[in-house]
Amino acid sequence: MHLPVLESRQSALETCVFCPKLCRSACPVSNAEPRETLTPWGKMSMAYFAARGNIDPEGRDGAMETSWACTGCFKCRESCDHRNPVAGTLFDARAEWMERGAAPDGAKRVVERFPLHWQETHDAVNAIADRLATSTSAACETSVLLGCTYAKRLPVEAHHAAIACSKLVPGGVRLINECCGAPLRMAGDSQGFRTQAERFQASLGSAKRVVVVDAGCARTLRDDYPAMRVDLGVKVDLFVDLAAANIAKLQQIATDEPLRYHDPCQLARGLGVTEPPRAVMAQITGKPVGEFDDNRRAANCSGAGGLLPITMPKVASKIAANRVAEHAAQGGGRIVTACASSLLKFRAQGAQADDIATWIARSLGAETTE
Ligand code: SF4
Ligand code: SF4
Repeated sequence: MHLPVLESRQSALETCVFCPKLCRSACPVSNAEPRETLTPWGKMSMAYFAARGNIDPEGRDGAMETSWACTGCFKCRESCDHRNPVAGTLFDARAEWMERGAAPDGAKRVVERFPLHWQETHDAVNAIADRLATSTSAACETSVLLGCTYAKRLPVEAHHAAIACSKLVPGGVRLINECCGAPLRMAGDSQGFRTQAERFQASLGSAKRVVVVDAGCARTLRDDYPAMRVDLGVKVDLFVDLAAANIAKLQQIATDEPLRYHDPCQLARGLGVTEPPRAVMAQITGKPVGEFDDNRRAANCSGAGGLLPITMPKVASKIAANRVAEHAAQGGGRIVTACASSLLKFRAQGAQADDIATWIARSLGAETTE
């Protein structure tokens, strides 16, 4: 193999290359930008041929860019008889290209700017902790990982999630001011990702449990860390599961506004969690939350994952616009989701959209008017 990291992915690559492309209509990227090389089959084939040395392994022909044309949404896996791990394989291919200096500029920038991203995340979480009069350092059985996108770009929603956790966990919580390193994994910096995972692990101190707000971070901790043998030694719980486990504490909020729940890819397909957020919203509003026609594991992607907004911003925005158009065509109202990146994308498309954290904090009596 000319791309050695992909050796362990040979079977997945061959499965796709010799497949009749059953998943071709599933991919949000090739649906938004119809090119054969952007279908899951096309992207896996490019990685396969690059790994065999059949196309320029230095990436001079641009073939490498197809590895970054993936939001990591797992939707192709749902239509695949083999449940082939396309997203993970393409993310490994990114690492090969990055090592050769053949990654797209956007991905290289993510790696170069990671120290700044780390500092900004650290400062943003500290500011939320100060406001909540909680700690980022005290010994605490339960630590909360908000997620860097919440902390940096959605501080209001991050604050809501932090308040809700502090109200739902007896004895209080500590906020983790580290990044899990997922941006490095998505960019293709596998060594940097490992280093950051170990740093994250060291930051946990005596914590016995981590409650994770962002589903992408939770999936990283649950799947990607064990895959590279980083054992956190703590229970990794989801914020929506914590809320669902305490459902009796959630007070009803009267609303006539139509609400529609968008399943985040990392939560629904990545972690298989579809019902707890629905149960929480039904408890809070006193009725079942509205649905997209494509929902749960069949939900369409928001275009926000896998660094696509950085490597293919127009395509990412088109995917988000398609999802918002579905929402409008199915009656409109307000979208509720549980994913920082999706929330930002929907709002950028002009949609009224909330994070489930805001509804949970409000139902627990927290002031959420800012
Ligand atoms: S993901 Fe599955 S259905 Fe899609 S091309 Fe690969 S093997 Fe075929
Ligand atoms: S994981 Fe999603 S974006 Fe990536 S190839 Fe599969 S369907 Fe397309």
